[in-house]
This record gives sequence, C-alpha cells and structure tokens, in this order.
Amino acid sequence: MCGIVAYIGEKEAFPIVLKGLKRLEYRGYDSAGIAVNNGEELNVYKKQGKVVELENFAKDKDTSGGTAIGHTRWATHGKPNDENAHPHTSDNEKYAIVHNGIIENYAVLKEELIQRGHVFKSETDTEVLIHLISDIIEKQQCDLFEATRQALNEVIGAYAIVVISKDNPNEIIAAKKSSPLVIGIGKDDFYIGSDATPIVEYTKNVVYLEDGEIARLSLDSGLTLKTIQNETKTPYIQELEMKIEALEKGGYNHFMQKEIFEQPRSIRDCMRGRLMLNENYISLGGIEAYQDKIFAAKRLIIIACGTSWHAGIVGEYLLEELSRIPVEVEYASEFRYRNPIIDEDDVVIAISQSGETADTLAAIELAKSKGATIIGICNVVNSTIARATDCGAYTHAGPEIGVASTKAFTGQVTVLTLISLLFGKNNGEIDPARFSRLMIEMNAIPEKVEEVLKSDSYIKEIAEIYKDSHNALFLGRGINFPVALEGALKLKEISYIHAEGYPAAEMKHGPIALIDEEMPVFVIATQDASYEKVVSNIQEVKARKGKVIAIVTKGDKDVRKIADHVIEIPRTDDMLVPLLATIPLQLLSYHVSVMRGCNVDQPRNLAKSVTVE
Ligand code: GLU
Repeated sequence: MCGIVAYIGEKEAFPIVLKGLKRLEYRGYDSAGIAVNNGEELNVYKKQGKVVELENFAKDKDTSGGTAIGHTRWATHGKPNDENAHPHTSDNEKYAIVHNGIIENYAVLKEELIQRGHVFKSETDTEVLIHLISDIIEKQQCDLFEATRQALNEVIGAYAIVVISKDNPNEIIAAKKSSPLVIGIGKDDFYIGSDATPIVEYTKNVVYLEDGEIARLSLDSGLTLKTIQNETKTPYIQELEMKIEALEKGGYNHFMQKEIFEQPRSIRDCMRGRLMLNENYISLGGIEAYQDKIFAAKRLIIIACGTSWHAGIVGEYLLEELSRIPVEVEYASEFRYRNPIIDEDDVVIAISQSGETADTLAAIELAKSKGATIIGICNVVNSTIARATDCGAYTHAGPEIGVASTKAFTGQVTVLTLISLLFGKNNGEIDPARFSRLMIEMNAIPEKVEEVLKSDSYIKEIAEIYKDSHNALFLGRGINFPVALEGALKLKEISYIHAEGYPAAEMKHGPIALIDEEMPVFVIATQDASYEKVVSNIQEVKARKGKVIAIVTKGDKDVRKIADHVIEIPRTDDMLVPLLATIPLQLLSYHVSVMRGCNVDQPRNLAKSVTVE
C-alpha cells in the first residue's frame, strides 16, 4: 500500500525514481508523483492514475536533477486526484514531502496552521506535515533535519516520510514510524524505497529504518541517524539477499501466473533445511530459542488478515489434529480492538506475507503487552512484523508481486505444517509411524504441485465456460473448508465476481437458496474422511440444477458421475490436501480474470501490503 522512492547522487534522479515507482506498483495505489531538485528549482509533477500517466505527463517537462522523491498514493484522506497526490509542498514551495501512513491528529494541526496563515492546497492529512516543518524552520531558523524531527514529535499516527529542500539539493531527510522505509547505500549515492525492490538493482547494502528513527542522507556527510528524541544511532548495514530476476515476469504474462507456477520451487525452498527426511526430524532454527516457552503453550492464537487468515484456519486444523493443542484463529483487526483474554502462557502465531500489515502489527503489540510469546510467519525478510515478533519462520517464497497471494499462501501453509509436525512430535501426540509417513508425503508435495499445474489448459477451458457468471460458491469440509474460502477470495479479488466460500454442510443453512442453473459451485471433494458427506452435498447442488466443478483425488469415479467437471489432484495425506487443492482454484481465478479483461496483478482498490488500519 503506497510506495515511496527517493534518490540522491550524481545520476539523473527522475528516471531512477520513476522506475522505482513502477517496481512498487504491485503494492496498490491510485495516483503518483515526483519532486525533483535540479539545484535551482524544485519541480513537482503529480497525476491521478498509473505511473505511466505521470511518465507521459512529465515527458516534455524539465525533469533534470540529482535529487528526487517519488510516491504512489493509496488515498486515505481526500479522494484520489492530482491535487491530493504527493509530493506536497510548503507555502513557499521550498520544501516537498512524500508520506505513507496516516497523521491521526492532522485536523487539530491543520486548524492551528491555518490560523498562523498557512494555505492548504489538498485535502490530505499529509500536507499538514510539510507546513509544520516549514513553520518550524521559519520560527527557529533551524535546518530541515531538525525541523522534521521536531515536527514528528507533534504527530500522532503512522508515517514513512521523505523530505527535501529546494535550497539544499545535497540532502534528503527520511523518517519512519509503523510504515516501512529502507535506505540503500550506493558508492556515492543513496536510494530509498518502501521496500527493497526499487533498490536491489543498484546496491545490496541497505539500512532498515526502525520506528522513531530519522535519517539524514547527505552527499557531503553521508548517512546519519537519530531517534526523534534526538539520540544518535549507529546505522546497521545489512546485505540484501533478493535477486533482481525475482522482480521480473520471466516470460509469463502476469506476475500472478509466474507466482502460481513457481510453487513447486517455493514450497521446496520453504522446506529446505527444515524437513530433514533422512534424519526424520523437523528443524525450525528461527523458533529454537523460544522452544521451551512455545512447547509449554496451553493454547495457540493465530492472528492474520485476508489470505493469511485462511492459511491460519488451515493451521488450526493441522495444529489441533497433529499436536492436540487448542487453537483460535482471529482476524487481527478484530483481535486488537476487543480486549482479548491473553497472558504469558499464550503463544501467538502472527501471519503476514508482507510483514507490514498494520492490523496484524497492532495485534502483535497488544499480545506482547500482555506477555504472550509471538511467533511470526512472514515472507518479506526483515519486515516490521518479522522484527517485532519474538521468533519465527520465513516462508521463503521470494518476492510476491501479484496482489492476489498465491505462493505466499502455500508457503504459509507449509510453515504451519512444519510447526504442527514439530509440536506433535514434541508432545508425543503423533505416533512415530504417522510422523514418518507425513514427512515422506510432505517431501513429495512439490512434485505433486507440479503435476497439478499440468491441468492448466483444462482449467482454462472450465474458466471459459464460467467466466461470465455473476456469482460463484466454493465448498469444502474439514481442512478443505479454508481452501474454499481462499478459492472464493481469489475469484472475487481479481475478477470481481461475487463469490462465497462455505463449509459444504453449511450450504443448506442459507446459500442453497441461491443455487440455480446459473450458479457454478466449486467443491473440494477429495477422498478423505468427509468424502461421502461431500458427495451428498454435491447431490444437493445437482438436485437444484447448480453446476458442479469438483476437485477430486486422481482416479475418482463417483464424483465424476455426478459433477459437470472434475479436476484431479494426486493422492496425499488428508492433512496435506490444501497444498494441492488450492492450486486449481488459483489457476481458475487467474484465467477468469484474464478473460474478463481485468488487471490481474493490480486489481482495483486493493493493495498488496495493507499498511493502514
Ligand atoms: N494519508 C496519506 C494520503 O491520503 C498517505 C496515504 C498513503 O499512504 O498513500 O494522502
């Protein structure tokens, strides 16, 4: 959600920042803008719409200069239009800012600033900050760094900001609280990004700003860091592991398609060094230090949002079945506001692809304040949640650019399966034979995912038949119920078809009223403990003329007789079916979205990492 890019150095800044904004497009946005300083002027260009519109708009303008800040906005305060797009400038047009987040006390600050004669040009919360900064500079005759530091002490809310001054093209000021910001350190230049994707092609040396830190990036004096309380900090420089190829489509038409097809590899990467088949044990180094506390847990609470929440429900089935520890799964946004009963004996598992999800982060802070131990499951290395948790396990899926999560979901389920096996083995709830069988089955999952992917062209044919539907129902039972939820979410988010996921048996308590010959019903009907029951549910749909598309175990005969279409997946242990059954549903949504002419990778109104509440 929202992207910030900045550059300062010898090179032309505008093209670098523009390219960086394109790299951040996946995060979701509605307008874009860049301010560039050529030593004499501070030129600001901003446009509602895509980055390419900004690019076209600025084509015949002066974009020269070695210092620039850029922004893709996801509107929170004020509609998406040219005026509200960032960067915002001070009254004297000397200072410009880009901001990600929300200034919660902006109304009070704005009122005071208006009374002091400031004139506002936008409806955003952001604009108060740049007026406040210029106000402090005027009053105290201090420099931009000091004024920004003081201004941030007056602010309540979340921010990642970058500020520049017309009079000093040799420095950039950056600060953050609750929204991410990464600084790239080049040979004689600096880069800034909301994440590392705009930086990785220029330098691997980065500093992740911590909450409450403010940085001066100066071509004269280098990088200096302070807290907003004015304590000096030493920058901790880390090396990026990201590869630039991971940010390109690599021959696929869309990132989502590429990411679906990457899953055999991403799941294997997630298990590497953790699923020790020959030694018959699970090694999760990231949680070892907290092992005693974690294994003593009387209850586990999983907190997440969106697709990660669905992975959490799969986790609930896995953990309760394999380790017999009670699990609760909560929406982070609900958990944080409902005074949950939680104490030092609780272990919380927080799941977030981006590791920046604002609601999940707030829920973590709440659980931490009550003494709970927090395990994080994130995809983005070094993200805020990865750092805010006590311990954790990365999904190692590589950058996920498509807004609709695919490989990150299977990565989350893979980690949860490993955790469940580890817990179950430790507390003796899984008998050794079952443990070994599950290890073998788990090890075979990447190959089986590869096999499922071979159904792609058949799934495309099914997509062609149902692409014009207005509604769709997804049904599953047991551990496949969350797969149904995830299938419905994928379809609605990228193709805008209304879709609902339901436990198959619940259909008769409501959604059955919707079924007619127009209604496609996608059913996970693999041969597991609830197979017969699901077959009955399919009969109920057929009796009302619904169209059934069933995901079945390879070789299944019964469902084939009654369903309109069957998609086969290889046989595996019941507990591992979600890792396979999810794949055809991802492919289906993908093809439907393409056929309906939707923007697959950047669906309307959605953001990749939801960094605001
Ligand atoms: N709250 C700011 C606005 O609405 C920033 C939003 C964002 O993070 O893009 O302009």
